[in-house]
Formats: sequence, structure tokens, C-alpha cells
Amino acid sequence: MIDLDAPVTELLDSTHGRPKLLVVDDQPINIQVMYRCFAGDYQVFMATNGEQALGICKNNPPDLILLDVVMPGLDGFEVCKQLKADETTSHIPVIFVTSHTDPAQETHGLNLGAVDFIAKPVNPDVVRARVKTHLTLKFQSDLLRKLVFLDGLTGVFNRRYFDQQMATEWARAARNNTPLSLILLDVDFFKLFNDRYGHQAGDDALRVISNALKSCLRRPADLVARYGGEEFACVLPETSYEDARAIAAELERKIRELAIPHQSSSVDSVVTISLGLATRADDTAGDVQGLIGLADNLLYKAKHTGRGRVCSGIQTATN
Ligand code: GH3
Ligand code: MG
Ligand code: MG
Repeated sequence: MIDLDAPVTELLDSTHGRPKLLVVDDQPINIQVMYRCFAGDYQVFMATNGEQALGICKNNPPDLILLDVVMPGLDGFEVCKQLKADETTSHIPVIFVTSHTDPAQETHGLNLGAVDFIAKPVNPDVVRARVKTHLTLKFQSDLLRKLVFLDGLTGVFNRRYFDQQMATEWARAARNNTPLSLILLDVDFFKLFNDRYGHQAGDDALRVISNALKSCLRRPADLVARYGGEEFACVLPETSYEDARAIAAELERKIRELAIPHQSSSVDSVVTISLGLATRADDTAGDVQGLIGLADNLLYKAKHTGRGRVCSGIQTATN
């Protein structure tokens, strides 16, 4: 997860490590020249034809591509066109490297979405400087795309990301017939907490709570999102009802164990949460809104049967 308080340069470093460059050229000698230019500062990947380049971009997307135009089979223009047409690769900057410095060709390449055009034989200093510029821009736009999906206060994912991811995970679960569990949880008597300890302390508590929630989720596909003010969602793909129940119980315990004082709560002397857990059954006839609605109803039930507890259920065609 991104540390929002870190300076931007650190964010870039922490999310990218050594930048990955893909050099595509049918002449090994040209690849060697580029390799010597970049091996010191970058991870350099190589492809000698267009098909290979597209394969690498799909499986291990580089941060930038140096792409030869004239190649047997798929030429550079065609490779660029295909990369730009696919939303998983369209954000990778492409620099054409070519011995044809005809303005019409250059315009064509730029119109296809390339960020730059470099003439062969390349000057190592010039090509390094241009790559550095375009990588900086690329990392800045990566960061912006990430920030669009993060909650500013807590650094966990926001509602927008939750909505997208739930739809994706639901479709995946339906396709593969795998379970999908969703926990909605809400801090108990949080208005009273703010009234007693102040809004700033409330904000701090929300940060601590979201970190604790994150620490309980272990699989890479699990996610925590801020669903509303003091309400959070945990999406647990491929997690059975029983496993999700254990996780929900752990979340409830973990937040209590944070021991954040809450003298105005009638549940406990510390901050507690109420949770609604709903699991999509393998053969459910429902939809994603039905699963969210069920989790919400179960959260409501937890609130009205004492708070500081989990209520859980399995989605069926009727609930
Ligand atoms: P319940 O146990 O029924 O959930 O009671 P509650 O007081 O938690 O629920 P209610 O919906 O009445 O109040 C929610 C409170 O959460 C009110 C609002 O000020 C507070 N809250 C929402 N977002 C934030 C936030 O970002 N920071 C702080 N400090 N408080 C927030
Ligand atoms: Mg509340
Ligand atoms: Mg609430």
C-alpha cells in the first residue's frame, strides 16, 4: 500500500524499483548498443520481433519500450497500434528508434500514440536523457492513476475502486464457480467518539483501524476499502463462508485489541466494530448488488443485536 505521507520521489521508488525497459529490434547488434546504454540503471528486456514484444508486454509489462520500426513480420507501427488498443498495455510509453527519419513516418508513429522518435545510429547520452524524461512522466501518471483509487485519509482503496473490483470479482466468481466473500463493517458509536475525543482523534482512529484491517488480510487478492465515513469493506475472493467467518471474527477481535479508549460506548470501554459478512454461494442466482445488499442487511442486524459482533449469511436466490 502506498504511504501517502512519503515524498513523491520515494513513492515512485517504492512502487517501481529499477525501471524496466524493453528493447525491440530484429538486429542483435542494435539491441547490444541499447543494452550497453541502459544496463547500469535499468532492468533491460529484449525482443527480436513484434510477436515476442507483445508477449513480454502482456506477461511482464515494462515501464517503457524502445521499438524498432522496420522488422520482418509485425513491424513497429503494428506493434504500437496493438499495444495502444489494449487497456492493459496502452499506458506503456513507446519510443520509436529508426534509421528512417522521414517526417511523414515520424508523424505516423506519433499519431499511433508513441511519445518520441529517435534516429539511428543513436547517441547514448541523448537516448538516455530522453528515456529518463519519458519515464518520469510515466511514473507521475502511474501515481495519479493510483491516487484516483485511494482514500485520502486512510490510504486504503476508496469506494470507486471497491465498486470496480466487486464487479470484476463477482464476474470472475460466476465464471469460475468460486466463492466470493464480502465483509462490510462499521465503527460503533463513532459519532459519540468524535463528540468526546474530537474530530482529529476520530481521524486518527480511522487510520489506525484501517491499518489493522489490512494487517488481517493476507492473500494478495484481498482488499480493504473505505466504503463510507466510518464504514469499511473487505473483499475476499475465493474465500469460503467458513474461512471468511474466521477472518471476520479476527477483525472484530483485532479492533477491540487496539484498545482505543471509547468511554461513551455502551458496548465496551474501547472502540469496537459491527460486521456483516455475506458469501456468494457457488450456484447463486443473485447478482453483485444482491451480495452487497445482504452484507449491508447483516451489518444492520449486528448493529441491532448489540454491536461489537459479526452477523453472517450465504447469498441465495431469495435473500
Ligand atoms: P452506530 O454504532 O450506529 O454506527 O453509530 P455511529 O455514531 O457510529 O453512527 P452514525 O452514522 O450516527 O455516525 C457516524 C459518525 O462517523 C458521524 C461522523 O461524524 C463520523 N465520521 C464519518 N466520517 C468521518 C471522518 O472521516 N472522520 C471523523 N473523525 N469522523 C467521521
Ligand atoms: Mg458507526
Ligand atoms: Mg456508519
